[in-house]
Amino acid sequence: MQITSNFDAGNIIVVSQQKNTTQLKIRKDTNSDFFQWFNFKITDAIIGNTYNFCIENANESAFPDGWDNYKTNASYDAKNWFRLQNTEYKNGKLYFSITPTQTEVSFAYFTPFTYQQHLDLVATASKSPLCTTTILGETINKKTIELLQFGTPSPDKKNIWIIARQHPGESMAEWFMNGIVNRFVLKDTTIDKLLTNCCFYLIPNMNIDGCIAGNLRVNTLGINYNRVWENPNKNTEPEVFYCKQKMQETGLDFLLDVHGDEAIPYSFVTSLQGIPSITDKILSEEIRFKNEWMAVTPEFQDTYKYKNSLPNQANLGVCSKQIGELFKTLSFTLEMPFKDNDAIPDLEKGWSAERSEVLGASFLTALEKFLSGKN
Ligand code: ZN
Repeated sequence: MQITSNFDAGNIIVVSQQKNTTQLKIRKDTNSDFFQWFNFKITDAIIGNTYNFCIENANESAFPDGWDNYKTNASYDAKNWFRLQNTEYKNGKLYFSITPTQTEVSFAYFTPFTYQQHLDLVATASKSPLCTTTILGETINKKTIELLQFGTPSPDKKNIWIIARQHPGESMAEWFMNGIVNRFVLKDTTIDKLLTNCCFYLIPNMNIDGCIAGNLRVNTLGINYNRVWENPNKNTEPEVFYCKQKMQETGLDFLLDVHGDEAIPYSFVTSLQGIPSITDKILSEEIRFKNEWMAVTPEFQDTYKYKNSLPNQANLGVCSKQIGELFKTLSFTLEMPFKDNDAIPDLEKGWSAERSEVLGASFLTALEKFLSGKN
């Protein structure tokens, strides 16, 4: 049996291999101490043999709480993923095993969304007559940064921004974007209503280099994008620089910045509480939006979430806080789980690519209801 991670978004180090037991470590992000994302495959496996794996450095990862009740994702075709129920986190190490029915098996922290899939997403969107694709600039490693615009801008319309994957290891964020893009492409009455009153700006991948590198949180220079929104540097965080510049050009009435949280087994959004210019109006609008989303799907909730920042204590380097402060409007970080939605658990798949896509599509329903409701 051979182990490889030398591919797009791959990440694993083989420490030792004895018979059918393999000791592994997760490699640190490029130029950074963060790590948690892993993604590798085995080939030449013997069908019916049991292979045991141990990730030795799990407890040194960025979010050790992420391993409690976590189940490893596995796939025989890198398309259909399932959870390994025997996954166990004990004594700081993550253990799992498989008795394969195929000679090749992929393993990952979450269902990957590869660079090729990203290119496919952009191509699918670009074919839609509703979409205008523009290139905002280049990443550090010379990949294009795509902005997908759905609808026609107008001074009467609201400018809705949705961006994802500042943190590359949070691949559910791009699955969420895939759900949104596919809904625009297929078009329905909700989309018609939204496009009458809104223009949408989507950046489905804010950190392509970090994704390809198999990083959890940073680009290849080691920059954590979601801390540099106050004064982004074109030379070190070009995605953030160009995105913020474009937001200022188009104007912005609503932002959703899409992420995944390693530890909390629920989907939730953050509040703007703690930014200097917070108002009661914004806080009541946050509640109204969350209520609309909860009415649309049980996959979104508002009970389990981050603590709010104290007055004037919000970190304005964080995208949603900076943009909320700058545009004085609703601006959310969305977190989806890596594990499962514990309110409606799925033992076979846990939280999955498919559920992330469905949640993305449901966001548009909630947004339409929110915007057509009373202010
Ligand atoms: Zn994140």
